[in-house]
Amino acid sequence: MPVRARKARLRSVQRETESAAVEGDRAAVEDVVRTLLRHMGEDPEREGLKRTPARVVQALEFLSRGYREDPKVAINGAVFAEDEYQEIILCKDLDFYSLCEHHLLPFFGKAHVAYLPNRRIIGLSKLARLVEIYARRLQVQERLTTQIAQTLMEELEPLGAAVVLEAEHLCMRMRGVEKQNSFVTTSAMLGVFRTHFETRQEFMNLLRSAAK
Ligand SMILES: [Zn+2]
Repeated sequence: MPVRARKARLRSVQRETESAAVEGDRAAVEDVVRTLLRHMGEDPEREGLKRTPARVVQALEFLSRGYREDPKVAINGAVFAEDEYQEIILCKDLDFYSLCEHHLLPFFGKAHVAYLPNRRIIGLSKLARLVEIYARRLQVQERLTTQIAQTLMEELEPLGAAVVLEAEHLCMRMRGVEKQNSFVTTSAMLGVFRTHFETRQEFMNLLRSAAK
């Protein structure tokens, strides 16, 4: 067998082995969901619940797909040189959905992402991608906020980055902890947004004026 064919064969065997491992994993996790259903007082074998373990595993894989994506790779190739524009760029009201790592219940809301460029700008859709990748992991809102801002600082090297997240947490609302309708706001101010009061103020004004 020629070398190339042998390598291709090896790769396909590897792929089969990997997907078998994933399948085996999935069956084991479905068992866990059945145990969970029993623990909740249900009968996992009843008609309506028969396919539930498979659906739950699929849903959780979707909701945690951010672990299998590298935000730095996602940004790569969308950074452009720009000498003219030197003002704050703000991307407002990016919807996000995440899972709190304490209860595996959703928290969701709006992300506002801003930066002050330093001769480099980034495609606007990539800001949304960045939020999405970090949100599709188990999170606490504070860390999610910081990770978005820090990645921007590292990959784009702007003069500063500012991120504000407003979210409601179902683990608070559904469990009756704290007031219903409570929103949690977190922010991360890096670079000039941290050191320059005026820059931070300008960002806050932009955020307010862009509202509604
Ligand atoms: Zn929680």
